[in-house]
Amino acid sequence: MARPSAILNPMDAPVPSASPDPTRLVVALDGPGSSGKSSVGAAAALRVGYRFCDTGLLYRAVTWLSLVRGVPSTDPEAVRALATEVELAADGVGRLSRVLVDGVDRTAEVHTPPVDAAVSAVSAVPELRAALLERQRVLAAAGGIVMAGRDIGTVVLPDADLKLFLDASVEERSRRRAEERGLDPAGREAEAILAALRLRDRLDSTRAVAPLHPARDARIIATDGNRFVDTVDAVVGAILDAQARRAAEAEPTGTR
Ligand code: C5P
Repeated sequence: MARPSAILNPMDAPVPSASPDPTRLVVALDGPGSSGKSSVGAAAALRVGYRFCDTGLLYRAVTWLSLVRGVPSTDPEAVRALATEVELAADGVGRLSRVLVDGVDRTAEVHTPPVDAAVSAVSAVPELRAALLERQRVLAAAGGIVMAGRDIGTVVLPDADLKLFLDASVEERSRRRAEERGLDPAGREAEAILAALRLRDRLDSTRAVAPLHPARDARIIATDGNRFVDTVDAVVGAILDAQARRAAEAEPTGTR
């Protein structure tokens, strides 16, 4: 398999063009665990010709590394140092939806129950969040991007052109996660997924730094009962509407 192209630090990120196209927007896509941000965001970005970035992968990869190395979340400096070993990587169509740790693709390993259980404690470390903040901003600077996470509209990109918040009940999100993993929705493993998601929701939304909540100017998209394609359509529609508004604003007066 060809090595995915990696983005190690802000200096390696795409250089914003001198006059970026104002209609290629910066889109913040936030929401709780298993709300579909990553899959919906990646599909929507492809349809509108934008880049995509899944910021949860950064926190997951640092968490995975902390478990492998035995670094506790109570040691903020050691946790922060791990971030230098983590890089996002593009998939076959240029979306940053893979993660490398020391050059090795660990995307599968970071989506496992031990990482799910530890990631909220690691991502609550302020030193880590500060270390990742600028990297995320540099990635978004050129526009034409959908960036998915928990605090994108509130902290990382408070001036984003469009802020969307995907939401669904914890029961629905848990059912989707169990289905993805091929589990019996009424079985013990599915129950464990529900309990773990509830806990992660609580920890992510009550932490002191950058807690999970919709930005005041975010549009909330409730996805309970939606098919995947309906949610992608809703996100694509919101982006195209916002683009059209921006294009109309950019037209010189008198030409309308
Ligand atoms: O989105 P995903 O479920 O992969 O994120 C995993 C974890 O990473 C979240 O539960 C949260 O603790 C953390 N995270 C975060 N800020 C982000 C993205 C993810 O704190 N922007």
